Amino acid sequence: MAKQQSFQDKATKAASMKGSKCEKCGTVFQPLLLVTSEQSKSTSWKFNERRVLVCKCNEKQVYA
Ligand SMILES: [Zn+2]
Repeated sequence: MAKQQSFQDKATKAASMKGSKCEKCGTVFQPLLLVTSEQSKSTSWKFNERRVLVCKCNEKQVYA
């Protein structure tokens, strides 16, 4: 019994640490790998990868 409870407690803590929420909208951030391509100097393409955290505040900008 006691063991189960502590396991549950740990699991809950781990989950709450992993999913951080936005202070403004309260949405859990969704990690997203955003790949953008840029054409640099007319011939070569450059790919940029960046990790962004998406919540309701910025999802429209990210997915636009
Ligand atoms: Zn937000």
